[in-house]
Amino acid sequence: MMEGCVFCDIIAGKAPASMVYEDDIVAAFLTIGPVNPGHLLVIPKAHYALLAEMNEEIGMHLFKISMKMAQALRLSGVRCEGINLFLADGEAAFQEVRHVHMHVFPRFRGDNFIIDADWSNVPSRQALDKIAGIIRGE
Ligand code: ZN
Repeated sequence: MMEGCVFCDIIAGKAPASMVYEDDIVAAFLTIGPVNPGHLLVIPKAHYALLAEMNEEIGMHLFKISMKMAQALRLSGVRCEGINLFLADGEAAFQEVRHVHMHVFPRFRGDNFIIDADWSNVPSRQALDKIAGIIRGE
């Protein structure tokens, strides 16, 4: 429980949420800023600002429930031709609430969600191998 955290307030029952799923470890509810109708957030009930603070067991459960929520959306009747899972980790990644949350939201052709990047950058295999080595810690 983190003072001043809106997601902790929801878990504590101090702020309203349209709850879809809840167990001892995670909760899933509708976001107040949906990309499309049915846009869910799946969060750990305990407060972790960043992914690296959360243990892997909780991460596994969070992903498991995100998968279940994706399937629930597909079967629900909300407009859903595809699903995006999106987790923003850190401010530079557009994380707005500093409590880990997985977005699970329906997609359909012609909706308004845009992922923008400069897709024209095509690095050489040599460049890719070099970065892979750096990430491996070599
Ligand atoms: Zn929190």
